[in-house]
Amino acid sequence: MIHSGLFKQLKKMVAVTAIGLMVACMMNGCGNLAPQTASGLVMDTVFTVTVYGDEASPAEILEIGERLDTEVLSKFSESSLVYEYNLGAASEVVENLIERCDGINSASAGAFDVRLGALSDLWNIDGVAKGETEFRLPASEAIETALENKDIIDLGAVGKGIYLDEVRTVLNEKNVTGAVISAGGSILIYGAKPDGTPFKVGIKDPFESSDGTPFGVIELTGEHFISTSGSYERYIDEGGVRYHHILDPRTGYPAWTNGEGIYPVSVTIIAGDGFTSDALSTACFVLGPGEGLELAGQYGAEIIYIMNDGTVITSDGIITENDSRLIFSLK
Ligand code: AMP
Ligand code: MG
Repeated sequence: MIHSGLFKQLKKMVAVTAIGLMVACMMNGCGNLAPQTASGLVMDTVFTVTVYGDEASPAEILEIGERLDTEVLSKFSESSLVYEYNLGAASEVVENLIERCDGINSASAGAFDVRLGALSDLWNIDGVAKGETEFRLPASEAIETALENKDIIDLGAVGKGIYLDEVRTVLNEKNVTGAVISAGGSILIYGAKPDGTPFKVGIKDPFESSDGTPFGVIELTGEHFISTSGSYERYIDEGGVRYHHILDPRTGYPAWTNGEGIYPVSVTIIAGDGFTSDALSTACFVLGPGEGLELAGQYGAEIIYIMNDGTVITSDGIITENDSRLIFSLK
């Protein structure tokens, strides 16, 4: 198992520096009925933790993400194993993670590839989207060179899912009756709400409705990992083309940027573990519904595609109802 040994191999504890860390016991205290929540900026995005049950501290659950990022996964943190690996240092932890990602690489016929760090550095859509740097369309020779370089690892497509898998292990050890852990585009729902009603997970509107109304809502009970990848998350519009952060390793360009036909703008996966949901949402975005539905099926996952023309394509295990807005649930 990749995850189980992860923290055992990490002896160092790094101080938590979550920006804007907010911990609150909601309503009248922290009894079983009232959820405890915390949120902070982790892995470059907002994480929000909500737990029902006395024993788990939401702040500690956020800290797991901080440590995982700064000590293991981050491509930019100078103390991380991935950072050192990219400079040539050996790391069994990183190699194990790459091996797991390589499984999705083979299953997706190369649509998913964590060895594309040189290419993601070249496009640097994250930096552009954050306003840190100006967008420049890379020259095709530079794209070719970056594609040939397989030495730089970028675990951006699976980091949040790996975090959620770690969190599930912790929740299993505590007296937690229900939880919703939201890590950017990946969410773990765990257990049940005290009143027994389903958890509701919104799918962001990829067409940017001004009031923030979700495109649809997934209603779920039990334990599920839900990840969404979309071209609306980090992007720049330039010359009528949307250059976004999900790259097609087969071409070197952001997926579906040729602008032809009907193509995905958002892909949501519901799976039994975080790694799979996070990796597949990225892979199935790149593949499109033709091959993506089949890939999700191979992993026992359900999938919801939102296409550029607003149509929705789902796998067979999803029920879709239209009650003033789209409501998805599992059969
Ligand atoms: P996600 O938002 O989970 O789809 O992950 C997107 C991030 O994964 C990007 O910001 C890149 O760091 C990385 N990435 C982009 N395209 C791919 C790909 N085809 N395979 C693996 N990782 C990718
Ligand atoms: Mg992903």
